[in-house]
Amino acid sequence: MPLRKILTYPAAELKQLAEPVANIDGHIGQLVTDLVETMYAAPGVGLAAPQVGSRERVIVLDVDHENPGKHLLKLINPVLVNAEGTIVWEEGCLSVVDYTAEVTRAKHVLVKGWTPDEKEIEIEGEGLLAVALQHEIDHLDGKLFIDRISRLKRDLYRRKVKKWLRDGVPLEAKKPAVSI
Ligand SMILES: [Zn+2]
Repeated sequence: MPLRKILTYPAAELKQLAEPVANIDGHIGQLVTDLVETMYAAPGVGLAAPQVGSRERVIVLDVDHENPGKHLLKLINPVLVNAEGTIVWEEGCLSVVDYTAEVTRAKHVLVKGWTPDEKEIEIEGEGLLAVALQHEIDHLDGKLFIDRISRLKRDLYRRKVKKWLRDGVPLEAKKPAVSI
């Protein structure tokens, strides 16, 4: 299966609002397959279509890397329908190289969406799964976790990336240990 190139900040595609999928066809099936392969190869616990330059509302997640595939989720048009409590998690992202920061999100979430075989499903998540679901849905809305940290921290990161780009440092080589 072809691995897709993961776009990294400050790629403009990461800021685009993804479009709802109107038809779960072969093209979407292939996209889902590619996302799964690319996520495991990275490795990451989640990947959203905009991270590989697609504008479809598709995400994949597997928060259990001890048993790959057992808890793999493939969601089309995911919608956050309920969110409760708060949790602070040190987040990283395959599209935000060499950086992690604490982000506050809902602790429990209920997400509705569709599977690649056109079944409507509900996912209840807490802890890392809740964090990852919210993080991936953010990607579909053109948001990165660094949009949820303080302006000061974001600015420091932006300057660091600018410097790497100026110095010709390959950003793909810089990956946080756990990326969503
Ligand atoms: Zn991410």
